Amino acid sequence: MNKEQLRKAWENFTEKNDFILNPDRKHVDTIIEGVLINEKKHGLKLCPCRLRDRTKERDLELICPCNFKIQSTWKERGDCWCGLFVKR
Ligand code: SF4
Repeated sequence: MNKEQLRKAWENFTEKNDFILNPDRKHVDTIIEGVLINEKKHGLKLCPCRLRDRTKERDLELICPCNFKIQSTWKERGDCWCGLFVKR
């Protein structure tokens, strides 16, 4: 998957939800690059902003998009931890 394909997949993911991709395209590009680097290195589309502990359980929590509505950043600011998704 390349950058544009991943952007499109995430745009589709937001369509029927109460969040959108961050309108700051540069920010989204940075996250896309980080996720694709993680996929190359670790075989999974892992969040680029949070630390792994090399356990399978932690890796599953970090697959992007994660379950970000349980994060304090979503509850307090309406963003996922990395600011990739923001409240509509
Ligand atoms: S915090 Fe945001 S960028 Fe990180 S995995 Fe979750 S949805 Fe993706």
